[in-house]
Amino acid sequence: MNKINVAKASLPPIDDYLDEIRDMWESRWLTNMGTKHKELEKGLVDYLQVKNIALFTNGHLALESAIEALDLSGEVITTPFTFASTTHAIVRQGLKAVFCDINYEDYTIDTDLIEELITEETSAIIPVHVYGNVCNLDKIEKIAKKHKLKVIYDAAHAFGVEVNGCGIGNYGDASMFSFHATKVFNTIEGGAVTFADKKLGERLNLIKNFGISGPETVELVGTNAKMSEFQAAMGLCNLKYVNTDIEKRKLVKEGYDEHLAKVKGIKVLKKQEGVKSNYAYYPILIDGYKKDREEIYRELQEQGINTRKYFSPLITKMNPYKDIYDYKLTPVASHVADRILCLPIYPDIEDYVFTTIREVIS
Ligand SMILES: *Cc1c(COP(=O)(O)O)cnc(C)c1O
Repeated sequence: MNKINVAKASLPPIDDYLDEIRDMWESRWLTNMGTKHKELEKGLVDYLQVKNIALFTNGHLALESAIEALDLSGEVITTPFTFASTTHAIVRQGLKAVFCDINYEDYTIDTDLIEELITEETSAIIPVHVYGNVCNLDKIEKIAKKHKLKVIYDAAHAFGVEVNGCGIGNYGDASMFSFHATKVFNTIEGGAVTFADKKLGERLNLIKNFGISGPETVELVGTNAKMSEFQAAMGLCNLKYVNTDIEKRKLVKEGYDEHLAKVKGIKVLKKQEGVKSNYAYYPILIDGYKKDREEIYRELQEQGINTRKYFSPLITKMNPYKDIYDYKLTPVASHVADRILCLPIYPDIEDYVFTTIREVIS
């Protein structure tokens, strides 16, 4: 029996992709903001309903570049309940990550705890839309305004999410999206930053291409984080199917909910008011159930189903950070990380997954 994983990369029909890349054998334009790149930018600005976008070779470098482009300094407030990338991006840009706890409702940053962490050194907040759950946008905006802080959202999980009809990429100074193979929308590897201020776009585009501004001019110490034409072509193909994919993910979520929402000691995600979800993840919190997380994880693995403990261990328990930070200072994040389990969710999931999960968690 094939192992079932928590995610399964979406691929277009192979002929779609071959048709999309065929003209590159003529043009020989393989990277450096060619026609596929431009088309994908346009397609994504429309799809995400944002003002501007800059594409990157992956989400992590998109986030690092956004931090650099916004000239952040000193301390950045973020959460430890996220993928290592969020904190690594802050630290690799020479800044100090300051960890705020999450709330037990939707696992995003607890906005009641942000202000007490602000010091003279604080330059920004980098909250994460965990599992596609939307952060408390209004409160974050208020705090940022009051203390003159920049806000960059890690929206890696939130592709296509809308709040009262508004694309999630319109909030804060910038939002980072990931188009990694395992995400709702993929360009194999890939990512983007969305933003309102055109000037920020100029800086992002310089940063991702060595700071090159013309044939004989280099403006700044840039890096190489460009999305290639092959990645962009995959994006153009996948974009045609992403709405159908999200509809299918919704059915998987409803299939799980039907059973799991009734099981005592299992907490499933609640629908957020006014939010159109992308059903990127299906986390369950095993809190007060007769089996613990490790038992469920093991039993499902024995049945060929690989679940994932996103996000465990917490960032503050990882080797580069564990001696600098105290994970006990974010008790909710700690509690959740010890009990969370993400179940497989992807379009056209096998019925076997449902029946097995019903047996193991009954
Ligand atoms: C996937 C992910 C990233 C990194 O994106 P890549 O495209 O893999 O570089 C950052 N933050 C979160 C929360 C993610 O899930």
